[in-house]
Amino acid sequence: MNFEPVIGLEVHAQLKTNTKIFCACSTSFGAPPNTHTCPVCLGMPGVLPVLNKKVVEYTLRMALATNCDIAGESRFARKNYFYPDLPKGYQISQYELPIAEHGFVDVEVNGNLHRIGITRIHMEEDAGKLGHDPQRPVSMVDFNRTGVPLIEIVSEPDIRSPEEAGAYLRQLRSIVRYLAICDGNLEEGSFRCDANVSIRPQGSQALGTRTELKNLNSFKHVEKSLQYEIGRQKEVLLDGGQTIQETRLWDPDKNKTTSMRGKEEAHDYRYFPDPDLLPLVIEDSWIQNVKKILPELPDAKKKRFMAQYRLPSYDAELLTSDRELADYFENCVGIFPRPKQVSNWVMGALLGLLNTQGKSIDESPVSPENLARLLALVEDGVISGKIAKTVFDEMAQTGKPAKQIVEAKGLVQITDTDALEDVVSNIISDHPKEVEAYKNGKTKLLGFFVGQVMKETKGKANPKLVNEILKGQLG
Ligand SMILES: [Zn+2]
Repeated sequence: MNFEPVIGLEVHAQLKTNTKIFCACSTSFGAPPNTHTCPVCLGMPGVLPVLNKKVVEYTLRMALATNCDIAGESRFARKNYFYPDLPKGYQISQYELPIAEHGFVDVEVNGNLHRIGITRIHMEEDAGKLGHDPQRPVSMVDFNRTGVPLIEIVSEPDIRSPEEAGAYLRQLRSIVRYLAICDGNLEEGSFRCDANVSIRPQGSQALGTRTELKNLNSFKHVEKSLQYEIGRQKEVLLDGGQTIQETRLWDPDKNKTTSMRGKEEAHDYRYFPDPDLLPLVIEDSWIQNVKKILPELPDAKKKRFMAQYRLPSYDAELLTSDRELADYFENCVGIFPRPKQVSNWVMGALLGLLNTQGKSIDESPVSPENLARLLALVEDGVISGKIAKTVFDEMAQTGKPAKQIVEAKGLVQITDTDALEDVVSNIISDHPKEVEAYKNGKTKLLGFFVGQVMKETKGKANPKLVNEILKGQLG
């Protein structure tokens, strides 16, 4: 029997506001424990929350970027549960009336476009953080994170494979980063994902019993845990068993999920509207103003890159996955208007370099101007493509412009025909055996001779010219 996976994702994105959602405490990361707290975020009796307007504006940006309907009136609700990192005994979230609903994003997997529905986006506060002392039998709690603003983006169960889940998640991350509302850092937990997954017989419309996967702090973990879980559920069903609704934890070391607890139902949280906060009314003029400042989004930019620069879909997708990377590319093309050549260098040498050094594009040791001018030197025949890589590595280390490196190191390409004729005739007279073999039909040896010339000229000979001269002299 063939089974079809049904996957939905719940993504929490931490908003990059300076202050918390309901008080003026700082949201900055890494401060000593419990220094960014006040009576409001510590949940003292008698205090009142005041909504941070920036949180609403950032949420509106995301709602518009994901094609959601925005509620003219929404409400905050209390989600009640007891845990030591939650001082009030409830989390302020949104429940029945979220700020945004019915959106979608389009993702591309293996050249096919899939539309993933977004059920809702709502605002909520984060909880604190528990720390466990390995030396002593105690746990400690840090409330700095309590009240840091989050949005939760809940997808429809429209996702049909782990690859599609990964593509959707990358797309969302790309959008929040374009909108400058969240840094999208999975490892540090500012962009988190839980996955709901069930399987059903191919062709069936009914939904199977789903499990919820937690602890997915990288794209790789999301895809691998889903693969594992789909396989596990298949085995259970094919053995005649039944899957149960539960929360399972992904263990990246053992590559498996283990049962954590039975899944709570919404009614376990006893939601009710928060009486301390007024209904949130959003006027249309505010929505229109936010619309005006939305940047060009990844999808639109990708389409433009394909049309304007005639780039293949693969190049356009990669270059627009990050706003700064797209800007870098466009800055280069502004100076050196050969888009495909720029794209090859950015995707190859540049991303390779940044990857090795663990740097982001805005920390690139090679500026777009320097890369563009290097490519112009190749285009003008001043240096060979091979030497260009050497110059690039040198630029990465010193930050100097290409021209300066080329001049200082004497790397200018040899295009002087007479000089190359001499080098070639010396090499031919030094290798009589190879010359004879070549003349007897072993034409593959041409590569050997080119290699010798390049060695002799330290890679500076113009390869096209070398080929011509060699063929001429070898007859
Ligand atoms: Zn506070």
